[in-house]
Formats: sequence, C-alpha cells, structure tokens
Amino acid sequence: MALHHRTCPFCEATCGLELETVGSEVVSVRGDKQDVFSRGFICPKAHGLKQLHEDPDRLRAPLVRRDGELVEAGWDEAFEEIDRRLSPLLAEHGRDAVAVYLGNPIVHNLSGVLYGPAFVRALGSRNIYTASTVDQMPKQVSSGLMFGTMLSIPLPDVDRTDHLLILGANPLVSNGSLLTAPDMRGRLRRIRERGGKVVVVDPRRTRTAEEADEHHHIRPGTDALLLAAMACTLVEEGLADPGPVAEHINGLDEVIELVRGFPPERAEGACGIPAEDIRRMARELAAAPSGVVYGRIGTCTQEFGTLASWLIDVLNTLTGNLDREGGAMFARAAAAQKNSSGNGGSGKGVRLGRWNSRVRGLPEMFGELPVSCLAEEIETPGEGQVRALITLAGNPLVSTPNAARLERAVESLDFRLAVDLYVNETTRHADVILPAPQPLERSHFDLAFYQLSVRNVANYSPPVFEGSGPAEWELLMRLAGVVSGQGPNADVDAVDDLVISTIVQREVGTPGSRVEGREPAELLEALEPRRGPERMLDFMLRVGPYGDAFRQNGHAGDGDRSRALTLSVLEANPHGVDLGAHRPRLPEVLRTPSGKVELAPESIVADVERLRTALERERNGGMVLIGRRQLRSNNSWMHNLPALVKGKDRCTLHIHPDDAARLGLDDGARALVSSSAGRIEAPVELTDAIMPGVVSIPHGWGHDVPGVRMRVASEHAGVNSNVLADETRVDPVSGNAVLNGIPVEITPG
Ligand code: SF4
Repeated sequence: MALHHRTCPFCEATCGLELETVGSEVVSVRGDKQDVFSRGFICPKAHGLKQLHEDPDRLRAPLVRRDGELVEAGWDEAFEEIDRRLSPLLAEHGRDAVAVYLGNPIVHNLSGVLYGPAFVRALGSRNIYTASTVDQMPKQVSSGLMFGTMLSIPLPDVDRTDHLLILGANPLVSNGSLLTAPDMRGRLRRIRERGGKVVVVDPRRTRTAEEADEHHHIRPGTDALLLAAMACTLVEEGLADPGPVAEHINGLDEVIELVRGFPPERAEGACGIPAEDIRRMARELAAAPSGVVYGRIGTCTQEFGTLASWLIDVLNTLTGNLDREGGAMFARAAAAQKNSSGNGGSGKGVRLGRWNSRVRGLPEMFGELPVSCLAEEIETPGEGQVRALITLAGNPLVSTPNAARLERAVESLDFRLAVDLYVNETTRHADVILPAPQPLERSHFDLAFYQLSVRNVANYSPPVFEGSGPAEWELLMRLAGVVSGQGPNADVDAVDDLVISTIVQREVGTPGSRVEGREPAELLEALEPRRGPERMLDFMLRVGPYGDAFRQNGHAGDGDRSRALTLSVLEANPHGVDLGAHRPRLPEVLRTPSGKVELAPESIVADVERLRTALERERNGGMVLIGRRQLRSNNSWMHNLPALVKGKDRCTLHIHPDDAARLGLDDGARALVSSSAGRIEAPVELTDAIMPGVVSIPHGWGHDVPGVRMRVASEHAGVNSNVLADETRVDPVSGNAVLNGIPVEITPG
C-alpha cells in the first residue's frame, strides 16, 4: 500500500487529497487533513479520480480515422498522419487556416498551461478560441483594463470580510470560481458566525442563497443595472469614498457622474428588485466594517457582462473596500505566467483588439477570438477561412453556442485533430485523437488558480502512476514540431530547451526582475537535471516573490525562509506551503501604463449608454433561460464517471409552478423549449426556487449522439442546452457569449 498526497485537479478549489494505491490500483481517495489550505475538505468529484483512472472508455492509445472509422494506432503512425494532413494545408492556405480550441481542463493542467501557449505560438494562427468566451472573458477584460493584466482580478477576502454580496455565483456548488477557496460552505458560515452578513442576488434561490442572510431574485441579464443603481445610491447619499486608495485611482469623477444616471427608482422595473431594497443593500455594504461584492458566471455570460464585471469593482472601490482586508484583494502567487517579476506599479497594460475576426469583425482579446465566431469562420469562403480544427481538452460542440450550426461546420472541415481522454460529442468527428495522460499520470501545480486564491499557498504533486504514452508536454512539443515544419519526429528535448531558454532570457532582461542581468547559462545550469514543466515551474518559483532567486544553497540568505521557495521545497512539503493571508498591494500590483487604477476605461465607459437604454426596455412577458451549476458536474467531461451521474436525472427544466400551470406543464412531464437558435426537449421539474418568468437547464449534457464512446454518459445523456444559445448574441466589449437570459418559448412535449 502506498500513500500519496496531491492536489485535486478537477476544479479551482485545489483541495488536498490523500490517495492509497496498491500497484496500479487506487484503493481510496480522502481529503488530506494536513493540507495547509483545504484541511481535509473535499467534494464528491474527488472520488472521480479513481473512476477516471479505471474508466474502460478512457482512451489509452491514439485513434486514427481509417475508411471512416476511428481505429487504434501507434503514436508514430498518428503523428505521421497529422503531418500528412496538416502540413500541406498550412503550406497552401496559411497559418489562419488552422483553428485551435482550448477547453477548460487545460487550465488545471501544468503541462497544458505551460506548453499549450508554446504550441499555439508555433502554429501562429489568429484563429485561437477557448472556453473563456463562454465563461469569464468579461472579468478578464474589465480587470485587464482597470489593473493591467487579465489575471489582476481583485478577490473577495471571504475569510475576513464582514459583508459579502454575491451575484450570479453559487459557490456552495461550484466551490468557488475565479476564486480559489476550498470549503466555501465553511468559509461563508464563518462570515455569519462572526456577525457578518451574506447576501445573494440570483434568478434562482441557489444552495448558496439558502444559506445566506438574504436573497433577492433578479431578472437575468440585469445585474449591471442593479450594480449601477447601488453605485448611484452611494453617490447620491454621500457614501462614496474610496479611502486611502483614492490617490492611486484615475477616473473617479467620471465614474461618479456616469452612475448618477441609474437611480434605483429607474432600475427597479428592469431588474425586479424594489428601489428601497437596492438603496438598503448599498447602504449596508458601505456601512459594514469591511465588505465586498463578488460576481461570477451569471454576471459574465450575459449581454452586459463586461459592464457588470466592471461595476462590481466600481462598487468595491466606492465603498472603500478595494485592496483592504475583508474587501477585494489581490493574490500574490508563488509563480505566475506573466509579470511574475519586474518593476511593480506600472506596466504595458493590456492591448485588446489587435486583430478582428474575419467574418463578423469581433475584436481579439488576449490572443483569442470569441468562440461564437468559430462556425462562421469555418463556413465562410475566402482568404483565412478555417479548414482544420485542433481541440485540446475541449468539447465545443457541447460547450459553445448554437451547437447544431457548429457541428455542421466541423463536419465540413478538411482535418480535425483532438487531444482528449474520450471520444466525446466533438472528438467523434476527429481524424486523429491523441490521448492525453489522465490526472494521476502527470504532475500538478495549479499555476493559474493560485493567482486567484483567497490565501497565498503553493502545493506541488508529482505523478502517482507512470503513463503509457508520452507526457503531455512532449505531445504538445511534438505537435509544435509538426506545425513549425519539423515533421512528425521533432526533437522534443531540443524544442523544450528553446522554450526555457527564451523564458530565462526574457526574465534576465526584464528591468527590476530578481535575476536582472544574470547570466542565462548559469541559471539554466542550476535548474538541471529537471526537464519539461518541472524545470519551468522551478524557474518561475525561484524568480517569484517567495523564491530564492537562484541564491547559493537555495536560501535567500536573509533568514526569511518564506523567500526561499523552490520546487525542491514544495517536493519536501506534500501538504503544501502556506504563504500567508493577502496584504494590500496597491500600487505595486498594478501593470497599467499610468501606474494607477483606471476606474473609467474608455471602451467600458463607451458601453454605458447601451446600459442606459436597458432602463427603458419594455418586458414582453416572455420566458428566459438561464443555466445552473451542479456539484457533481464540471462542464461536459465528467459524466462518464458512475459516482458523478448516479441518482435521478439532473438535466431537467426548472420552472416555477405558476408558470408551469399557465403553460400546462406537469412535474416530470416533458417540455419543448425553443429559441431563435434551436429546439430541445427536457423533463420538467417544478420548483419555487426559480423566479417566475425564468427557466433553467444545466449545460454540459447531451451525450446520446451517435459515435460517442462514453457508455455511462450515454445512459445519463440529458440534453444539450447550448443548442438554444444564439451565437450572434455576445457582450460587445468582450465578445463573450450570452448564455443567460435567452428568450425561449415553452410548450408541452
Ligand atoms: S471542490 Fe474541486 S478541488 Fe475540491 S475535491 Fe471537489 S473537485 Fe476537487
């Protein structure tokens, strides 16, 4: 029996696990009580690690399409096929002819986070798409414009706050999103135990709402109006005061004038919350010793996504809660992909819209285009037309809008390549599928999410089992070799050396870096004999804020052990290293060119007029659709694990009993749900938790299509709610899809 401690890779909470194994068998999965962050907490998904390891449907060898059928092939054969199909296409039609879609699991995968971008750079296509534009892109855009990078996201200091206002998030079920905080139930309970208050605003009375002090139903898509009306209240009633951070803010007067146009008495009709409640919520937030507003997917996947994301931080600023304990604070991660070092306090800021999508002209954001554009980029002839698609851990035919149109487009492509664990709804169309290592066959460090963590921690997990195929970084670098013209057998070690050399040289050339001016060869030698993601991670830790900066003997020499972090230190601490609570970071955290918080970014301010027109919008009395998060789901990809799908059907249409009676729907009956994009049928579940006029279907389901090789998922198929999402409806500032507030018609099925 062997005991392993590792971080759960399934969601953002980064819970510590204790695994017992015998040979190649996982005997048990428990919470690691000694984990410095999660203290033994886990959710049911953690047990999926064992079932994923054992899953007979999980791919263990590459598949290549021969005579129309996906059949097993060797690794060399698969790469030769990729080279044979992809290279002529790139030569004839150029780089943009190949699109890439990166799915959500990539960001929980050290190799994916570090080597996915290297592959994308080697490809050089402008047609890069990710799950971000069906999720959190508005928050990345507002944070990037206000603070300087897409991950400069102020986080609710839930462990110290006295007042937490949550919009469009259900952390008791999601376990935190753009907020790494294991055991959100415990953390929220402790707010109330210390005399604080939790308020939830959501069209559904979610599990989080049930545990809160107060819940307000809100009409989907009107969060920005509520937030603007709260900000207006603060201004009108003389409560707006950013406190000591005022000296670091540009645009305060402009924002104060802008929000005056949204008095609660005008917003109440649109958002469905009485004006006196809006005013009281604003006053209570301002009066709390510390308070913070936190919004998530419901505030992003809507027509005013960027405005809502921005207004959340406007409220945090106007109530004096930006960058103070108990308010909205910035993490100080041990390792970060960008801006890990260098001069704090200012930077290049973000440059958005460097190119536009070819057909609709939507702007690029952080190197990617809105995935709502993908189908038209495939279908529309002309220079730059997409002719091949590479999906990395992605299932866009389930996860993105107007799935039916995208499916037709994907079928028309010249070539499709997938790196994935399963033959799913998207990869069943592939010409080649390369199986990625499963989580227990790879190391883990949550590079992305420690940058969004409610407490500064670091935890590294080595692999539990050896994989049968290449490591994921090797696979990605071999693909990089193909797309950069080196053929199917590129020397991945040489490519890796090039990647790390480039990173080291950039760091030593960065003014203010902790290794500024050092000799790259000396630093590279100190990283030996590590290779791949471990070498890169060790480098990032060493030059990071707690790192040893390559001092002799691995110690900083100043007696401060917290500043001597290396990968060896993490390897010696399998329960993680606690790096402390957040501390105020303004202005050092900023990377805006001005060195100030830009409270009134031009492109966001320009969109405020559109929000003003929503004040006047007449309601037509029709129904609108929203999604909902489920504890045992993580998007589409974990539904083949029996423990996570057992029990009664979860893919149901939630509808208020009054609406159901009016529409002639009974509990358990089937309903037809139609939108401008498509039509699906779903079982009805009556619940007064959802507000009248709104229905909800969870996303990530619909596994009963031909060719899917996921037997358990197919037996618990559900329906694909993204068939109903209209790909032409996006938040214009960020390009994020509008997935909440979809107008629908409902009739008995
Ligand atoms: S909350 Fe997330 S990280 Fe924690 S056990 Fe569940 S899936 Fe894993």
